Amino acid sequence: MQLKCGQCGAPFREADLQLDRSIAVCSACGSVQRLAGSTTVAAPDVSETPANRKSQGDVPVPDRFTVEDNGQELIIRQRWFQWGLLFLLFFAIAWDSFLVGWYSMFAGGGGPPGVFGIVFFVFPIAHVAVGVGLTYFVLAGFFNSTVIRVAEGVLSVRHGPLPWRGNLDLPIDGIEQIYCQNKLRTSRDDDGRTTTSMQYEVHAVVEGQKRKLLGGLHEADHALFVEQRLERFLNLEDRPVVGEMTVT
Ligand SMILES: [Zn+2]
Repeated sequence: MQLKCGQCGAPFREADLQLDRSIAVCSACGSVQRLAGSTTVAAPDVSETPANRKSQGDVPVPDRFTVEDNGQELIIRQRWFQWGLLFLLFFAIAWDSFLVGWYSMFAGGGGPPGVFGIVFFVFPIAHVAVGVGLTYFVLAGFFNSTVIRVAEGVLSVRHGPLPWRGNLDLPIDGIEQIYCQNKLRTSRDDDGRTTTSMQYEVHAVVEGQKRKLLGGLHEADHALFVEQRLERFLNLEDRPVVGEMTVT
């Protein structure tokens, strides 16, 4: 029995399969897929309604997500808040307080005179930029949500209320496929150690072009949840992850 990637056709390697979670992460193309078996859905019920569709083979609604589906309109909402933000909040407060202290010294005429005064003023400019960026990031993390809405022929993605890039409007007629992709993020800490973490994204294929709908997800299940709900609402077929008998 050999499983192939529904996205690129490469055979899955053993390390690609997370059988306990019924998902596969293709090491060839990076797409994330649910494995057949977890996706087999009974023949469509003629009396199918949004309510009883919900019970069939669902990826459960993860924390931080809510979903509304009345048959006419689908709204998937993701809160950005995570507990890790509290640490960043304290860090941002400490950082910003230091800069306020620094400049209030300067404003009070306490800074050194002449060229040293200019250095004193200019030196922390990069730190101010970091402080502003960090503070905005933390505030957005506390208050923002991402809303994916499908209604009246348009799939829209909105991040807010604090402006953030990545808003999108796609006519649903052009959407050929929704799929999940993994992305290896490498970050380096102060001691020069690199750590890698896996993040997951949900993409749409629109007239042959990939458009990112949602990124930065830490769990494959979250991405697969969004994919499943969108596919179902848009009546798109899930790419089959076909099991093939191979003679070895
Ligand atoms: Zn692949």
